[in-house]
Amino acid sequence: RAKNRGRDQVCRYTADLAAIASHRLALESDLRAALADAQFELHYQPKIGSADGRVMGFEALLRWNRPGHGRVSPLEFIPLAEELGLLVPIGAWVITQACRQMAQWRDQGLGRIRVAVNLSPSQLKSADLIDGVRASMTSHGIEPNELEMEVTESMMMDDPEQAIATLNRLRGEGVRLSIDDFGTGYSSMAYLKRLPVDTLKLDRNFITGIDKDTRDADLCAGMIALAHKLGLSVIAEGVETEAQRSALVERACDVFQGYLFSPPMAAADVAAFLKGKVVA
Ligand code: C2E
Ligand code: MG
Ligand code: MG
Ligand code: MG
Repeated sequence: RAKNRGRDQVCRYTADLAAIASHRLALESDLRAALADAQFELHYQPKIGSADGRVMGFEALLRWNRPGHGRVSPLEFIPLAEELGLLVPIGAWVITQACRQMAQWRDQGLGRIRVAVNLSPSQLKSADLIDGVRASMTSHGIEPNELEMEVTESMMMDDPEQAIATLNRLRGEGVRLSIDDFGTGYSSMAYLKRLPVDTLKLDRNFITGIDKDTRDADLCAGMIALAHKLGLSVIAEGVETEAQRSALVERACDVFQGYLFSPPMAAADVAAFLKGKVVA
């Protein structure tokens, strides 16, 4: 009997593996078609000034409307897309789409609204990045400091010198830069002073417990002080509660982003969101 049970378990395990493999294969072939089939969309989450509630800009977050599956989270497809080498073309689409959207809001009379896009490691290494960014900005009349890019510390790891050179060139094109998920990567403290970035984004991990856990609160205070010393501004991501917000105000955090203010929204909802608000 024990032997039979063992065989059953092996069978079930094999069936599970087969299911996982076919699930992944389907995801992969759908993902390869998604860009050409215009299934991607950007949603926008506001960044709010801590001093006066002004809207400092939005972060563009990629959404995939996968046929038969609804809206798929980037956490589910970004790693696979990167592995398949698809994030270079998809990322280029993100940059173009963000610039197109900024131009549309401007032409609609909403003013010049800053947008930040997330860069992938492969994009940062791609030889076409700078030309692509310049072309997108020029063709949509985007001015210096209107477009921002978020990079992570881990993207510097492979080849820090090359990464720094690319970031400097982006800065030269008038792109603002921020370090995303700061404090979670292998720390680039040694590089921090050399990175041409404007902003540190404190990872949501530190924000979650900031009103309860004194160690999170002390870490946030320390990172904010460090950033300010280096002339950088600090944005807290994943701010969900009033208690977190006031703990961050107390520690001189400059900008907030999170569900407390708004979840990411479709581009069409941005005009209504901005009604009665001041855009920085
Ligand atoms: P991220 O850049 O750190 O973006 C912040 C994530 O936190 C977003 O998840 C956002 O929806 C979510 N978030 C915002 N406020 C809150 C909050 O108050 N509470 C909680 N629990 N979550 C909050 P999303 O949109 O699922 O994106 C996940 C990650 O996928 C992003 O993390 C980014 O690393 C990646 N990603 C998204 N769009 C792109 C893209 O266009 N290109 C690349 N390379 N990566 C992208
Ligand atoms: Mg980001
Ligand atoms: Mg982040
Ligand atoms: Mg994060």
